[in-house]
Amino acid sequence: MKTLNYDQLAENSIREVSLDKETALSILSSKDIELLSLINATFKVRKEYFGKTISIHIINNIQNGYCPEDCKYCAQSKNSNAKIDSYPIKSDKEIINEAEEAYHKGAFRYCMVSSGKSHNAERIEHIAALIKNIKSSYKIEVCISAGILDKNKLSILKAAGADRINHNINTSEALYPSICTTHKYSDRLNTIQLAKEIGLQVCSGIIIGMGESPEDIIEMALTLNKLRVESIPVNFFIPIEGTRIDNSSLLDPEYCLRILCLFRLLNPKADIRIAAGRELHLRDMETMSFYIANSLFLEGYLNTAGSKRNKTYQMIKDAGFTLNSDISLNELLKKESNFIEAHSIEFSKTVKN
Ligand code: SF4
Repeated sequence: MKTLNYDQLAENSIREVSLDKETALSILSSKDIELLSLINATFKVRKEYFGKTISIHIINNIQNGYCPEDCKYCAQSKNSNAKIDSYPIKSDKEIINEAEEAYHKGAFRYCMVSSGKSHNAERIEHIAALIKNIKSSYKIEVCISAGILDKNKLSILKAAGADRINHNINTSEALYPSICTTHKYSDRLNTIQLAKEIGLQVCSGIIIGMGESPEDIIEMALTLNKLRVESIPVNFFIPIEGTRIDNSSLLDPEYCLRILCLFRLLNPKADIRIAAGRELHLRDMETMSFYIANSLFLEGYLNTAGSKRNKTYQMIKDAGFTLNSDISLNELLKKESNFIEAHSIEFSKTVKN
């Protein structure tokens, strides 16, 4: 390919000029494009819209398992044999307390996720009441993931104060039938389009590591650009024993970073979130992702744990980034060391006794 002008690449992205396919493919796989130069160009775009801030998102899996859908990657699917802790919806008290905890852990956004294809009117009213309660009590943004929704249900959630809804596209249109047969890719696009129509912000993510080609990845990034979604969680597949995708191989960290760059360059204004699998697949290169993405999940995902929060806080601080939160990283780290000290005193008392 012709030599890449990195300054031009950044400038075009900031001006929302799309990439041609050849360049997009090279970003993913050509060694002629140096990773550090690419990240540096992408960082200019990230800085233009998000400075050096990071928004923490905390997921609460408010209902886990018992899902009638057959998504192959999901531990909660009816066809999964994964050993997960299945439960119907948590109590209101638990969900609200966990929102408060999320706020005190520095979260900018609290993401309530419930399993299932979609929810009935009664459940949507219940979730709406929870949103109202949380929004009137804590300074935290709320995102809801509640499956396939029609305009009426989306409007109820919006009226209750939901800041965003989440509905992932997960993969490309061509691959969708190979990961799920109980609903269609178009069902997912429809929910996203309806949410946009009524003025709800949309979070829609993808999962890398389910057999997709570089062309599929480019298509996903372009689809999300076309849908004008405000937030894109980029998940890297975490194998859970018992799910029906048999892929336990580790992804190459450089490839993961190149994918994040592509999503940022094609979606310059979107929240790009380093989502599930950041620890497993980025490994020692994790900090580099902060120069591309402006958001991450803290302390784990739907059915898998993540890094301990103090490790994540320290990593953000050490890399020179700040939090998009009322609470500073120094305060959060101080609280963590107080917590550790308090527990080591307890522990030493126990040992002496
Ligand atoms: S991804 Fe959602 S719809 Fe699919 S099986 Fe899991 S919980 Fe059900």
